[in-house]
Amino acid sequence: MKKALVTGITGQDGYFMAQFLLDKGYDVTGIVRRNRDMRLGTLEMLPRETVQRIKLEHGDVTDAQFINNVIKATEPDEIYHLAAQSFVGYSFHNPQATLETNIIGTLNIVNAVKEVSPKSRFYFAGTSELYGTAEKVPQDESTPFHPRSPYAISKLAGYWLTKNYREAYGIFGANGILFNHESEVRGPEFVTRKISLAAARMHNGSREVLELGNMNARKDWGYAKDYVEGMWLMMQQKEPDDFVLGTGVLHTVRDFVEGAFEVAGMNIEWKGNDMNEKGFYNGREVVSVSSKFFRPLEADNMLADYSKAKRLLGWKPKTTFEELVKLMVESDIKKA
Ligand code: NDP
Ligand code: GDP
Repeated sequence: MKKALVTGITGQDGYFMAQFLLDKGYDVTGIVRRNRDMRLGTLEMLPRETVQRIKLEHGDVTDAQFINNVIKATEPDEIYHLAAQSFVGYSFHNPQATLETNIIGTLNIVNAVKEVSPKSRFYFAGTSELYGTAEKVPQDESTPFHPRSPYAISKLAGYWLTKNYREAYGIFGANGILFNHESEVRGPEFVTRKISLAAARMHNGSREVLELGNMNARKDWGYAKDYVEGMWLMMQQKEPDDFVLGTGVLHTVRDFVEGAFEVAGMNIEWKGNDMNEKGFYNGREVVSVSSKFFRPLEADNMLADYSKAKRLLGWKPKTTFEELVKLMVESDIKKA
C-alpha cells in the first residue's frame, strides 16, 4: 500500500486530496494544526468513517523538529504540501506570518525529505499569483514571474526551494502552478464562496446587501476536485517537473455574481459604475461595491495555458465555469 502525507488536509484542497488518495487505496496521514475546539476544518464535512481512515498528526509546518519526526516516522511515498496562509488579501496585512508559514514551512519539508526520507516525492502548491502582472497572456511554465503580493512572494520562494532541492540534492520535487480553483468547501472569505453563500442566504429569505471589491477583476476559475487529480498525476511522472493547471477561460467577479444569483432564482440588474455600481433584484439593492475589499495591487490577466499538462499528464479540467457556480450555490442553499 502506498503512503501519502498531506499537509493542509483541513483546507479545501486537503478535503478533495484526502478522498482522492483514499479512493486510490493510499494509506493517508494528514497534518492538522491544534485548535482549542479540536475542529478538523473541511474534514468535518466527510463521513466519520472516512475521517477515521486518515492518520492525523498534530503540529505546525513551521516546526522543523515536528516535520522531521513525522516524515522520518512515516517515510511517505508522496508528500502533498498544501498547507499555507493562502489568502492574498490577508497577506497584505500580515506579511510576516504569511512568509513564515509559506517559506519556512516549505523549507522544513524539503529539508526533511533530503535528510530523512530522500525517496519521498514532494508536491509544492504553487500558484498563478506568481505571474502577477504577466508579461504574456496566456501563461505557461516558461512565462516570467512578477509577484504582486506578499502571498505571491512567499510562493515564489517555495517554488524556487522546490526547484533548488531538486537540482542540488536530487529530490523528486514537483511544482504545480495552479490557477484559482474553488468548490463547495472553499474558504468563505474567497470571493466565489462569499458570493455563493450570500446568494444562498438571500434565496432563503435574507434581505442583506452583498458588499464586494473590484467587480472587474478577472480570474481563471476551475473546480478544486479536478485539480487534485492533476497534482497526483504530476507525482506519477518519471521525472519531477513544473506544470500549469487551469481552465484557459477568464470571468469577472461580476460574471460570478450574475451566475450565482441566477442559480438562486434572482436575475440581477446593474446600475451605476465603478464605486457606485449596484446590483438590484426586483428593485431591491442586493449587491454594492465597498473600498474595504479592494487590494493595494491586483494580479491581472492571469490566464492558464495548460497545454503541457494536457500533453504530458493527459490532464484537462472537467468542470465548466457554469457547472462550478451551480454546484457551489446549490450546495450552499442546501446547507443554509
Ligand atoms: P486553504 O486555505 O483552504 O487551506 C490551507 C490549509 O493549510 C489549512 O488546512 C490550514 O490549516 C493549513 N495551514 C495553514 N497554516 C499552517 C501551518 N502553519 N501549519 C500547518 N498547517 C497550516 O487552501 P487551499 O486548500 O485552497 O489551497 C491549498 C494550497 O494550494 C495552498 O498552499 C494554497 O496557497 C495553494 N493554492 C491554492 C489555490 C486555490 O485557488 N485554492 C490556487 C493556487 C495555489 P487550518 O485549517 O488550521 O487553518
Ligand atoms: P485570490 O485570487 O486567491 O486572491 O482569490 P480571491 O477569491 O480572494 O479574489 C479573487 C479576485 O476577486 C481578486 O481579484 C479580488 O480583488 C476580487 N474581489 C472582488 N471583491 C472581493 C471580495 O469581496 N473579496 C475577495 N476575497 N475578493 C474580491
